[in-house]
Amino acid sequence: MRISRVSYVLCRSELERPIPLSCGALTHRNFGLIRIDTDDGMTGWGETSVNFPPWTYRERAATVQEGLAPLLEGEAALDTLRLRDMMVAATRSFTRMWSEGAISQAISGVEMALWDLLGKTTGLPVATLLGGIRRREFRCYATGIRADDPAAGAADAVAAGYRAVKMRIGFGDDKDIATAKAVRTAIGPDIALLIDANQAFDLPRARRMLAALQDVDPYWVEEPVLSDDFDAQRRLRAEFPGLPLAWGENAFRLDHYRLVADEGLADFIMPDPCRCGGMGAAMDAARTVNAHGLPVSAHHYGSDLGFAAMLHFMAATEHTDLVLRDVAAAPLRDAVVQEDLRPVDGMVRLPDGPGFGVTPNLDTIAETRLDI
Ligand SMILES: [Mg+2]
Repeated sequence: MRISRVSYVLCRSELERPIPLSCGALTHRNFGLIRIDTDDGMTGWGETSVNFPPWTYRERAATVQEGLAPLLEGEAALDTLRLRDMMVAATRSFTRMWSEGAISQAISGVEMALWDLLGKTTGLPVATLLGGIRRREFRCYATGIRADDPAAGAADAVAAGYRAVKMRIGFGDDKDIATAKAVRTAIGPDIALLIDANQAFDLPRARRMLAALQDVDPYWVEEPVLSDDFDAQRRLRAEFPGLPLAWGENAFRLDHYRLVADEGLADFIMPDPCRCGGMGAAMDAARTVNAHGLPVSAHHYGSDLGFAAMLHFMAATEHTDLVLRDVAAAPLRDAVVQEDLRPVDGMVRLPDGPGFGVTPNLDTIAETRLDI
């Protein structure tokens, strides 16, 4: 069985209200799907993260169509990791000339589609192929709560059954601190409050913010500084030893996971299979950090196709913690697949069935696909 075609399928919908993040506002939700077809009629689907920068959804088309697809077309379709290694080797020098993250995210989606194809062909769930299903139910935290009133949004998430809620900061220090206090008041002392800075701070500002945020008893503070500013992370770790830190959604190299685990620079590690190089790279990262006693709390900010893949990664990982669930209004996110993966009372189940256990909704994909 050989690969006949690798396609980039970009689905895009405009948001009624832009979503503010410290690095800019999202005006659209873009879902970068990857479809791999074989010469005997099998199909596998993956997802590449195309959230930021805003033009990434166009860049990714070129990387997949001109850079990766020609490498794979004609190759043996079930050689998952061999083909992953081939893509990595062919693009290695470009990660220094251009963007490590962009190339890693492109490879992630294609590699993910290869795993789905392997699962669909063998009749096995991807989590089984990754080494075994260790759990089928996952406790989620809610992210994407309403930005105009985070306290009300957090209370809504708790009312919907979530026991953990994430808020974003990076919009002005005084405002951030006031918002964090308001959210804590709204959810009470027993709900886990996760705070995400999206790499917004330099070291002096991170110091001030972490000192202030200790008052709201965060479950974790995520990415206070640039993800590869390890000197700053060492300082913060030394100065705030009791404050849990989360890191990893912007890590694209196994040696960075190893460094953070070796030095204990974070408490929760967040590989994103749509970004870090795919399912194999996520498993490598998980094994590395688990060996140091650190739990994996996988990241995913995309469609429910990638969400299903992330659950298979979490199902196969030994030591895990909370799973991210985006609760912002984004109908296309859910409609990309036929299955309903929305958590109930903050819990979500691993989709059953071969591959990632989800069926792409081809009508919705065709209706929302951008021809690029
Ligand atoms: Mg984050």
